[in-house]
Amino acid sequence: MDCLFCKIAAGEIPSAKVYEDDSILAFNDIDPQAPVHVLIIPKTHIKWAWEITEENSAVVAHIFEKIPEIAKSLGVGEEGFRVVNNCGDAAGQSVKHLHYHLMAGRQFTWPAG
Ligand code: 5GP
Ligand code: ZN
Repeated sequence: MDCLFCKIAAGEIPSAKVYEDDSILAFNDIDPQAPVHVLIIPKTHIKWAWEITEENSAVVAHIFEKIPEIAKSLGVGEEGFRVVNNCGDAAGQSVKHLHYHLMAGRQFTWPAG
């Protein structure tokens, strides 16, 4: 499948990995919008949040279970972090492989733009 993040998950396209296990990968965003800006993806291809189901949601839970550990490993402290999923064109999803942005190291505003 011609999917950028599938290729990154398979190691066909290099990335700066910060965490990896059998089912998920976290790597630095190529165009960081904060001092810490990591993308966390399932290794299996899920197009977007519309495709999360009872059958495949274990990997989504696993991503969220690992977020505190990944954040801590990157030096993020009690000041906090932001996790973002853009789903679809209106939200600005540019890569159609489910991913969560883990961002930290600056003050964020709300609502998101
Ligand atoms: P989206 O806009 O879909 O929510 O997020 C896609 C993210 O992927 C963007 O923040 C963009 O900078 C990042 N990105 C796009 N291409 C690459 C790449 O080849 N390598 C890495 N590490 N990040 C990428
Ligand atoms: Zn993919």
